[in-house]
Amino acid sequence: MLDSLEDLVSALTKLPSIGRKSAWRLALYLMERPESEVRYLADTIAAVRQKVRRCTACFNYSEQEICAVCSSLSRDKSLICVVEKPTDVFTIENAGRYRGLYHVLGGLLSPLNGITAEKLQFPRLMERLRTGGVGEVIIGLGGSSDAETTSLYIARILKDENVRVTRFARGLPAGLELEHVDQLTLTQALSERIDVVRGWGGGSSAV
Ligand SMILES: [Zn+2]
Repeated sequence: MLDSLEDLVSALTKLPSIGRKSAWRLALYLMERPESEVRYLADTIAAVRQKVRRCTACFNYSEQEICAVCSSLSRDKSLICVVEKPTDVFTIENAGRYRGLYHVLGGLLSPLNGITAEKLQFPRLMERLRTGGVGEVIIGLGGSSDAETTSLYIARILKDENVRVTRFARGLPAGLELEHVDQLTLTQALSERIDVVRGWGGGSSAV
């Protein structure tokens, strides 16, 4: 087989949800397109990768030092929703009801996989809280066991901070990542929040 085509296929299989069969289909499709179109696609990917960086405040993707959400005058800066990854910001923004800010952790605590607290953006979260003006932190993580571990950790590190800590009232489906939760469930989960008991040691966190 053609080596360069094989290279493209193996590069495409590195994308999420793309198996070898789909990769072959995509590669052969690209071979059929005009060269200008394929070049435009490649250039666009390269340009995005070069231009887009992390917002220095919330770690969401941004083309500026501070992202559009953080710099918007119409957002409620007293609210911070802590999420796992930038995709979650897009998911919540698409649901269209949330008006606060975000904090992207960059992953979930998973000691078995070597993801410890030092590898995530907790220090910056604490810094943001200490600069003042934040009245509530919403734990906006999914329903996986790593999400639960991370939620417990957040509740613990925030328990002595002068801030209300809440989480989604309606438990998200067990094991489900935020991006797979439908918009209605997500909107309800965000609007019906419950306070996290200080120290949050067990499953019951309602007050
Ligand atoms: Zn930001």
